Amino acid sequence: MTKRVIILGSTGSIGRSALDVAAALRGEIEIVGLAARRGWRRLAEQAARFGARTVAIADEQHTADLRHACPAGTRVLAGPDGLVELVQATDADFVVSAIVGAAGLPATLAAVERGLDVGLANKESLVVAGSILMPLAKERGSRLIPVDSEHSAVFQALHSGRREEVRRIYLTASGGPFRAWPRQRIEQATLAEALNHPTWSMGPKITIDSATMMNKALEIIEAHHLFNIPAAQLDVLIHPESIIHSMVEFCDGSVIAQLGVPDMKTPIQYALTYPRRVPGLAAPLAWNSVQRLNFEPPDHERFPALQLGHEAAQRGGTCGAALNAANEAAVEQFRAGAIPFGRIADLVEQALHRHHYLKTPTLAQLMEADAWAREEVSACIRVGTC
Ligand code: NAD
Ligand code: MG
Repeated sequence: MTKRVIILGSTGSIGRSALDVAAALRGEIEIVGLAARRGWRRLAEQAARFGARTVAIADEQHTADLRHACPAGTRVLAGPDGLVELVQATDADFVVSAIVGAAGLPATLAAVERGLDVGLANKESLVVAGSILMPLAKERGSRLIPVDSEHSAVFQALHSGRREEVRRIYLTASGGPFRAWPRQRIEQATLAEALNHPTWSMGPKITIDSATMMNKALEIIEAHHLFNIPAAQLDVLIHPESIIHSMVEFCDGSVIAQLGVPDMKTPIQYALTYPRRVPGLAAPLAWNSVQRLNFEPPDHERFPALQLGHEAAQRGGTCGAALNAANEAAVEQFRAGAIPFGRIADLVEQALHRHHYLKTPTLAQLMEADAWAREEVSACIRVGTC
């Protein structure tokens, strides 16, 4: 049976890899909807190539361009509401959620509300609103299948035992481009240096998050929600080769890991074909070129972002929303040249600690915490108070 798939964020790094996987699984997967922010040319090409009948573009400025470029008969939706409508109104079985940032939340929520299965790359939706998304998914029978490589690894390893048998989860981290740099040099790192990831090729925001290690902070919160595991049972382990994608330790002392080359097509495909496995596009691991697998504990002094992830996962409530929004705003400012690299984690910490904390927020209150944190970061930079 064909799986009808919508790809949100189809012009990005994950979105394009998802389309490569879909092309290799033609006959099994049908692309019925595509969405992106403003890359209308690429979106129209993808719609033509994959025969997607509905497309959505978040930036309304480009609606007319997209309409002209798309094959005749393509339905074109526009604006943030257009993305939600794409998910609500298209006949589909599965949604690949690969928009970057909290901007991916409304359409992901719409997919879960409809009870569709979701391949979740957009970790920010869980960081912001895991407390709402997870119970809703349970209620609607929507399966959230992780695409994030660490969480895909944990998801696969968890099949080896029962949930109550899990002792710890180890999320591995490459350590990013600044793994061996002294703190002072990290603080002054340039944009080009932060964008130069040693093992993974990804979009710019997550690449910068990997350099600050805020990505791992977001992943701690993501794992906490996804696997319903307390933050105290989640550890981070630096593993520079990015071959072990994460591990689960069970109560008998057995540790189950998932290994493979660092290629996102593997977890994307696994999410799309789950629970089956089919031949993949990623190269197999060449064991004779794997000299050794190294591990080291994370350095919280040089990478203060990590601790913020533990703290936000532990406190819950509005913390994830505040942390994520402050990080998005700070990363934007760093990319614009307005702040040095070392300020990103400071600004996030400040927003996390200053925000009006609520233990059991509604979605509207999470959105308020998000808006407040973004404003707090720009205000801090504007008036130079932090
Ligand atoms: P990217 O920047 O390459 O692509 C982002 C996509 O989102 C693009 O299609 C863009 O048009 C769309 N988009 C951006 N803002 C939007 C908005 N406001 N409204 C609608 N669409 C919008 O990013 P990426 O690296 O593909 O990452 C996507 C998500 O997957 C992120 O949440 C990231 O953390 C996660 N992820 C990525 C990787 C990776 O290898 N790239 C690995 C794990 C997790
Ligand atoms: Mg990851």
